[in-house]
Amino acid sequence: MSENYEGLYERYFESPPLNDDEDNDDEDDDQEEEEDGGGQDEAGVDPARKQFVQTVFCAIAGITPECSINDIFTQRGTNPKLDGLTYSVGKYPSIEDHDRNFEHDAIYAATLYQDILTEYNIGNTDDAAIMEIHRRAFDFPNIEDIFENRGCQALGAADSGLMTTLGAHILHEFVHWHHLTRTPENGQIYNQLITHDVYKPNENGEEVEETHDYIDDYDRDEYDDKDLDPPDGYGPQHAHQLVVNDEQDSFRNADNYRWFAVSLYWH
Ligand SMILES: [Zn+2]
Repeated sequence: MSENYEGLYERYFESPPLNDDEDNDDEDDDQEEEEDGGGQDEAGVDPARKQFVQTVFCAIAGITPECSINDIFTQRGTNPKLDGLTYSVGKYPSIEDHDRNFEHDAIYAATLYQDILTEYNIGNTDDAAIMEIHRRAFDFPNIEDIFENRGCQALGAADSGLMTTLGAHILHEFVHWHHLTRTPENGQIYNQLITHDVYKPNENGEEVEETHDYIDDYDRDEYDDKDLDPPDGYGPQHAHQLVVNDEQDSFRNADNYRWFAVSLYWH
């Protein structure tokens, strides 16, 4: 694996602890931090979790059980699991608005429906999903469109939301789809790392516990014991902040996978 890959894994999933927390000198802290950042060891990285992230990407590419990130870049076949997916440009007609967030079209570039399809009797419910791709997702189909319309200068030096492409929106939705990302090989760690309880208000405003067994979107309101920052897990900054706050959340947040991949793609 390349250095890029290691550095990006640490940025979006697991950061080794910083050594300079122990000494209390208050001079040149910024500089020291940078120097430490350059010589990271893997003391804080759990190999099983790292392997898990790899299996998620390999499962999306349809390569199991043995696969490396390089295999993904050279993969030319299609994933048979994608046969269960229906794409819809804009709202899928049978899905009713009460099953959507009403602000969807304006805010979200794409949405995936999976378990809810049982209620609608759509497809073989274990395998099926519907992905709505909204107009905004088509603004920048690929990197060339971003260069042409935004220019290199606008992007700045750090990962930014301006780097996202149509493919990146679709990848984010793929990550949510448990039929796609969960495999016999990663099932056990998937249960340990991904399955989690969230709290949502019901119609009467009461907090109700729900178990989510897919890679979710982090929402601070669902975690009543968490600090208020970041408010959600979208975008490269928030995704990275989750790693800093509580690594467990980074593995459960679909955008961390998106930004890891987008960053790797641009590098
Ligand atoms: Zn999402």
